[in-house]
Amino acid sequence: MNINEKNKSYKRFAVMGGTFDPIHYGHLVTAEAVRDKFELDKVLFMPTKNPPHKMHRPTSDVNHRYLMTVLATITNPYFEVSRLEIERTGLTYTVDTIRELRNIYGEDAQIYFITGADAILEILTWHNVEELLGICQFVAATRPGFYGKDMEQKLIDIKSKYNKEIFSIEVPSLAISSTDIRNRIKNSKTIRYLLPEAVEHYIRKSKLYTD
Ligand code: ATP
Ligand code: MG
Repeated sequence: MNINEKNKSYKRFAVMGGTFDPIHYGHLVTAEAVRDKFELDKVLFMPTKNPPHKMHRPTSDVNHRYLMTVLATITNPYFEVSRLEIERTGLTYTVDTIRELRNIYGEDAQIYFITGADAILEILTWHNVEELLGICQFVAATRPGFYGKDMEQKLIDIKSKYNKEIFSIEVPSLAISSTDIRNRIKNSKTIRYLLPEAVEHYIRKSKLYTD
């Protein structure tokens, strides 16, 4: 447990997992839309440590990704950043994280897990997916570039296979990705208005994504 895991009075919250390398307005607008629609007390941003599906690309140091996430969320009183996955040793799986959150917040907590359309298309490959679907409520958010019909079909497949409803939500479309931001920096292109200014300053100061 750490400072962010104290004072756990809230009972309805969402987890927004991601590599956040770097965090951008696509993540923020999605988290805020879910918080608003489901009238949640908080959104917990959860930077992952060693994402099992991203082993092909070394991610930036987790402390950089954590700090950028803090900077990006600082102005929203409903947003918090958790170090739960960062501090765990070994590979990190979402199902372990949700179990741990249940221990902290209590069995009666209502936990939502936010995923973009691309992530939901891969969900059946996740570790212990059946248990995971039973211990939190998934919310699938639209994302430009990922065909909505595929997402709808996936939600139907999950419903028939596991008898679990996944909520879907349309969020204001922002065709922004961390991959595109990293490429822009490498090619000396502007990244202004794609992510919070403080995060851009942090990236420049720490000389991230330049090689
Ligand atoms: P990368 O290009 O490195 O994969 P990313 O932009 O996809 O980065 P992630 O950290 O992989 O960001 O994403 C975390 C979560 O945020 C995922 O569930 C993803 O689907 C969602 N997400 C990312 N960008 C957007 C966006 N523009 N709109 C909606 N959801 C998004
Ligand atoms: Mg991604």
